[in-house]
Amino acid sequence: MTRPVCDSLSRVARDVVACERCPRLRIWCRHVAHEKVRRFQDQHYWGRPVPGFGDPKARLLIVGLAPAAHGGNRTGRVFTGDRSGDFLFAALHRAGFASQPTSVSRDDGLRLVDCYVAAAARCAPPGNKPLPAEMARCREYLSREWDLLAGLRAVLVLGKLAQDGLLALLREKQRVPPRKGFAFGHGVVHDLGGGLRLFGSYHPSQQNTFTGKLKAADLDAVLAAINRHLGRQAPGGPE
Ligand code: SF4
Repeated sequence: MTRPVCDSLSRVARDVVACERCPRLRIWCRHVAHEKVRRFQDQHYWGRPVPGFGDPKARLLIVGLAPAAHGGNRTGRVFTGDRSGDFLFAALHRAGFASQPTSVSRDDGLRLVDCYVAAAARCAPPGNKPLPAEMARCREYLSREWDLLAGLRAVLVLGKLAQDGLLALLREKQRVPPRKGFAFGHGVVHDLGGGLRLFGSYHPSQQNTFTGKLKAADLDAVLAAINRHLGRQAPGGPE
Protein backbone atom coordinates (compact mmCIF):
# COMPACT_ATOMS: atom_id res chain seq x y z
CA MET A 1 0.00 0.00 0.00
CA THR A 2 1.28 3.47 -0.85
CA ARG A 3 1.70 5.62 2.19
CA PRO A 4 -0.16 8.98 2.06
CA VAL A 5 2.13 12.00 1.68
CA CYS A 6 0.35 13.90 4.46
CA ASP A 7 -0.39 11.16 6.93
CA SER A 8 -2.17 11.62 10.25
CA LEU A 9 -3.32 9.42 13.09
CA SER A 10 -6.94 9.96 12.10
CA ARG A 11 -6.11 8.89 8.55
CA VAL A 12 -4.40 5.74 9.83
CA ALA A 13 -7.49 5.02 11.93
CA ARG A 14 -9.77 5.42 8.89
CA ASP A 15 -7.56 3.10 6.82
CA VAL A 16 -7.50 0.50 9.59
CA VAL A 17 -11.28 0.48 9.98
CA ALA A 18 -11.73 0.02 6.21
CA CYS A 19 -9.05 -2.68 5.85
CA GLU A 20 -9.98 -6.05 4.30
CA ARG A 21 -6.50 -7.47 3.62
CA CYS A 22 -6.83 -10.62 5.73
CA PRO A 23 -9.89 -12.60 4.60
CA ARG A 24 -9.59 -15.17 7.42
CA LEU A 25 -9.69 -12.46 10.08
CA ARG A 26 -12.39 -10.37 8.44
CA ILE A 27 -14.66 -13.41 8.15
CA TRP A 28 -13.98 -14.34 11.77
CA CYS A 29 -14.65 -10.82 13.13
CA ARG A 30 -17.93 -10.58 11.22
CA HIS A 31 -18.94 -14.05 12.35
CA VAL A 32 -18.29 -13.18 16.02
CA ALA A 33 -20.13 -9.89 15.61
CA HIS A 34 -23.13 -11.71 14.19
CA GLU A 35 -23.20 -14.63 16.64
CA LYS A 36 -22.20 -12.55 19.73
CA VAL A 37 -21.93 -14.09 23.18
CA ARG A 38 -24.91 -14.52 25.46
CA ARG A 39 -24.06 -11.70 27.89
CA PHE A 40 -23.80 -9.19 25.01
CA GLN A 41 -26.72 -10.45 22.89
CA ASP A 42 -28.48 -7.09 23.11
CA GLN A 43 -25.42 -5.12 21.93
CA HIS A 44 -24.33 -4.07 18.46
CA TYR A 45 -20.81 -5.37 17.81
CA TRP A 46 -18.23 -3.22 16.02
CA GLY A 47 -16.98 -6.23 14.01
CA ARG A 48 -14.37 -4.21 12.05
CA PRO A 49 -10.62 -3.72 12.48
CA VAL A 50 -9.79 -1.73 15.61
CA PRO A 51 -7.57 1.37 15.36
CA GLY A 52 -5.09 2.55 17.99
CA PHE A 53 -5.95 5.53 20.16
CA GLY A 54 -4.44 7.96 22.60
CA ASP A 55 -2.42 11.14 22.98
CA PRO A 56 -0.83 12.33 19.68
CA LYS A 57 2.03 13.77 21.78
CA ALA A 58 2.55 10.48 23.59
CA ARG A 59 6.02 9.56 24.79
CA LEU A 60 4.82 6.08 25.73
CA LEU A 61 3.52 3.63 23.12
CA ILE A 62 1.83 0.46 24.39
CA VAL A 63 1.64 -2.43 21.95
CA GLY A 64 -0.73 -5.35 22.53
CA LEU A 65 -1.23 -8.34 20.27
CA ALA A 66 -4.74 -8.04 18.80
CA PRO A 67 -8.29 -7.06 19.82
CA ALA A 68 -10.36 -9.57 21.78
CA ALA A 69 -13.39 -11.13 20.09
CA HIS A 70 -15.87 -9.76 22.64
CA GLY A 71 -13.72 -6.82 23.79
CA GLY A 72 -12.27 -4.57 21.09
CA ASN A 73 -14.15 -6.40 18.34
CA ARG A 74 -17.38 -5.55 20.19
CA THR A 75 -16.65 -2.00 21.35
CA GLY A 76 -14.40 -0.73 18.54
CA ARG A 77 -11.63 0.42 20.87
CA VAL A 78 -8.56 -1.60 21.74
CA PHE A 79 -8.50 -3.10 25.28
CA THR A 80 -12.04 -1.87 25.84
CA GLY A 81 -14.89 -3.92 27.23
CA ASP A 82 -13.01 -6.93 28.57
CA ARG A 83 -11.05 -8.03 31.65
CA SER A 84 -7.67 -7.37 30.03
CA GLY A 85 -8.68 -3.77 29.46
CA ASP A 86 -9.99 -3.43 33.02
CA PHE A 87 -6.62 -4.60 34.31
CA LEU A 88 -4.54 -2.47 31.94
CA PHE A 89 -6.44 0.81 32.27
CA ALA A 90 -6.70 0.58 36.06
CA ALA A 91 -2.89 0.35 36.08
CA LEU A 92 -2.51 3.17 33.56
CA HIS A 93 -4.79 5.33 35.72
CA ARG A 94 -2.73 4.60 38.83
CA ALA A 95 0.41 5.55 36.89
CA GLY A 96 -1.10 8.80 35.59
CA PHE A 97 -1.42 7.75 31.93
CA ALA A 98 -5.24 7.42 31.84
CA SER A 99 -7.94 9.85 32.96
CA GLN A 100 -10.07 7.08 34.48
CA PRO A 101 -9.54 3.49 35.63
CA THR A 102 -12.18 1.92 33.41
CA SER A 103 -12.51 1.38 29.67
CA VAL A 104 -15.97 0.16 28.71
CA SER A 105 -16.96 1.84 25.43
CA ARG A 106 -15.67 4.27 22.79
CA ASP A 107 -17.71 7.11 24.31
CA ASP A 108 -16.92 6.51 27.99
CA GLY A 109 -14.82 9.70 28.27
CA LEU A 110 -11.47 7.92 28.73
CA ARG A 111 -8.49 10.06 27.77
CA LEU A 112 -4.91 8.89 27.60
CA VAL A 113 -2.18 11.25 28.75
CA ASP A 114 1.33 10.96 27.28
CA CYS A 115 0.37 7.48 26.10
CA TYR A 116 -0.90 5.79 22.93
CA VAL A 117 -2.26 2.23 22.79
CA ALA A 118 -2.20 0.06 19.68
CA ALA A 119 -2.02 -3.59 18.68
CA ALA A 120 0.33 -5.52 16.41
CA ALA A 121 -2.72 -6.88 14.52
CA ARG A 122 -5.95 -4.91 14.31
CA CYS A 123 -8.50 -7.69 13.82
CA ALA A 124 -9.59 -10.17 16.48
CA PRO A 125 -8.08 -13.55 15.52
CA PRO A 126 -9.50 -17.04 16.14
CA GLY A 127 -7.87 -18.49 19.25
CA ASN A 128 -6.41 -15.02 20.00
CA LYS A 129 -3.52 -15.80 17.67
CA PRO A 130 -2.94 -13.98 14.38
CA LEU A 131 -0.85 -15.83 11.77
CA PRO A 132 2.64 -14.47 10.98
CA ALA A 133 1.45 -13.40 7.50
CA GLU A 134 -1.45 -11.47 9.05
CA MET A 135 0.90 -9.77 11.51
CA ALA A 136 3.18 -8.83 8.63
CA ARG A 137 0.28 -7.46 6.56
CA CYS A 138 -0.92 -5.35 9.46
CA ARG A 139 2.48 -3.93 10.33
CA GLU A 140 2.04 -0.96 8.04
CA TYR A 141 -0.46 0.61 10.45
CA LEU A 142 1.85 0.41 13.46
CA SER A 143 4.64 1.68 11.24
CA ARG A 144 2.64 4.75 10.26
CA GLU A 145 1.68 5.42 13.87
CA TRP A 146 5.32 5.04 14.87
CA ASP A 147 6.34 7.69 12.35
CA LEU A 148 3.56 10.04 13.47
CA LEU A 149 4.27 9.69 17.20
CA ALA A 150 7.46 11.68 16.90
CA GLY A 151 8.07 12.15 20.63
CA LEU A 152 8.22 8.47 21.64
CA ARG A 153 10.75 7.59 24.33
CA ALA A 154 9.29 4.39 25.73
CA VAL A 155 7.54 1.35 24.30
CA LEU A 156 5.73 -1.13 26.50
CA VAL A 157 5.07 -4.48 24.82
CA LEU A 158 2.39 -6.70 26.33
CA GLY A 159 3.59 -10.24 25.74
CA LYS A 160 6.28 -11.84 23.60
CA LEU A 161 4.26 -11.90 20.39
CA ALA A 162 3.69 -8.15 20.67
CA GLN A 163 7.44 -7.70 21.24
CA ASP A 164 8.19 -9.85 18.18
CA GLY A 165 5.82 -7.70 16.11
CA LEU A 166 7.40 -4.48 17.32
CA LEU A 167 10.94 -5.73 16.71
CA ALA A 168 10.03 -6.81 13.17
CA LEU A 169 8.88 -3.24 12.59
CA LEU A 170 12.02 -1.73 14.11
CA ARG A 171 14.19 -4.00 11.95
CA GLU A 172 12.29 -2.87 8.86
CA LYS A 173 12.99 0.70 9.87
CA GLN A 174 16.63 -0.21 10.55
CA ARG A 175 16.07 1.12 14.05
CA VAL A 176 17.63 -2.04 15.53
CA PRO A 177 20.31 -4.32 13.99
CA PRO A 178 18.84 -7.14 11.85
CA ARG A 179 20.23 -10.05 13.85
CA LYS A 180 20.32 -8.64 17.37
CA GLY A 181 18.24 -10.70 19.81
CA PHE A 182 16.08 -9.11 22.51
CA ALA A 183 15.13 -11.32 25.45
CA PHE A 184 11.52 -11.07 26.53
CA GLY A 185 10.43 -11.14 30.16
CA HIS A 186 8.27 -9.22 32.59
CA GLY A 187 10.22 -6.16 33.69
CA VAL A 188 13.00 -6.69 31.13
CA VAL A 189 14.19 -3.39 29.66
CA HIS A 190 16.22 -2.81 26.49
CA ASP A 191 17.92 0.43 25.61
CA LEU A 192 17.21 1.10 21.92
CA GLY A 193 19.45 4.19 21.78
CA GLY A 194 18.50 7.80 21.19
CA GLY A 195 16.71 7.96 24.56
CA LEU A 196 14.25 5.21 23.59
CA ARG A 197 13.66 2.20 25.84
CA LEU A 198 11.70 -1.00 25.33
CA PHE A 199 9.88 -2.34 28.40
CA GLY A 200 8.38 -5.83 28.53
CA SER A 201 5.33 -6.99 30.47
CA TYR A 202 3.33 -10.17 30.52
CA HIS A 203 0.07 -9.71 28.65
CA PRO A 204 -2.84 -8.77 30.95
CA SER A 205 -4.92 -11.68 29.62
CA GLN A 206 -7.30 -13.42 32.00
CA GLN A 207 -5.08 -16.46 31.71
CA ASN A 208 -2.21 -14.46 33.23
CA THR A 209 -4.13 -12.30 35.70
CA PHE A 210 -6.44 -15.05 37.06
CA THR A 211 -3.54 -17.42 37.63
CA GLY A 212 -1.46 -14.73 39.34
CA LYS A 213 1.27 -14.83 36.69
CA LEU A 214 0.66 -11.10 36.28
CA LYS A 215 -0.40 -9.21 39.41
CA ALA A 216 -1.44 -5.56 39.55
CA ALA A 217 1.73 -4.74 41.49
CA ASP A 218 3.85 -6.33 38.72
CA LEU A 219 2.39 -4.06 36.06
CA ASP A 220 2.58 -1.08 38.43
CA ALA A 221 6.30 -1.74 38.84
CA VAL A 222 6.90 -1.64 35.07
CA LEU A 223 4.83 1.55 34.69
CA ALA A 224 6.74 3.12 37.59
CA ALA A 225 10.01 2.33 35.76
CA ILE A 226 8.57 3.96 32.63
CA ASN A 227 7.55 7.03 34.64
CA ARG A 228 11.08 7.28 36.04
CA HIS A 229 12.54 7.00 32.55
CA LEU A 230 10.22 9.75 31.29
CA GLY A 231 10.86 11.94 34.34
CA ARG A 232 7.15 11.87 35.20
CA GLN A 233 5.62 11.77 38.61
CA ALA A 234 2.64 9.45 39.07
CA PRO A 235 -0.44 10.89 40.82
CA GLY A 236 0.51 9.24 44.12
CA GLY A 237 3.58 11.48 44.41
CA PRO A 238 7.27 10.56 44.65
CA GLU A 239 8.03 6.88 45.00
S1 SF4 B 1 -5.33 -7.74 10.62
FE1 SF4 B 1 -4.68 -5.71 9.88
S2 SF4 B 1 -4.09 -6.03 7.72
FE2 SF4 B 1 -5.37 -7.80 8.35
S3 SF4 B 1 -7.47 -7.20 7.77
FE3 SF4 B 1 -7.19 -6.63 9.92
S4 SF4 B 1 -6.54 -4.47 9.83
FE4 SF4 B 1 -6.25 -5.34 7.77
